[in-house]
Amino acid sequence: MERWWGVLTGALLIAAWIDRAVGPAIVVLLSAATVVWCFFQAPVTCGAPVRGHGDGCRNNAYGLLLGCRIRQHRWQKLKMIILRRQIREFCSGLFSDGKAAVVTLAGVGSFLSGLIAFIPGLALK
Ligand SMILES: [Zn+2]
Repeated sequence: MERWWGVLTGALLIAAWIDRAVGPAIVVLLSAATVVWCFFQAPVTCGAPVRGHGDGCRNNAYGLLLGCRIRQHRWQKLKMIILRRQIREFCSGLFSDGKAAVVTLAGVGSFLSGLIAFIPGLALK
């Protein structure tokens, strides 16, 4: 369960947005932590192509950008981004199941929240 700590920072982030007294520095910090969790820690499904398995690898991966503990899978997703023609495949993987979709939305949401909080005067004063 310790791999789900990003849910906690995400919940704190939402609380920080509701309670404006917290201030932008905390919001930026919580946003950054949640983004890092989504990209490099969240236990989403690996999904690297495996011969004989249509769905790909079912192991837990390290966030949206890294694969599972199998060495060949580790950098699979980053490679997909670098080799541009696989980007579409990578993006469809972001919504391949409910868990991945939630983590993706949390990542995008906290990224935007960090951005908005970082620009002084736009949302938080
Ligand atoms: Zn894997």
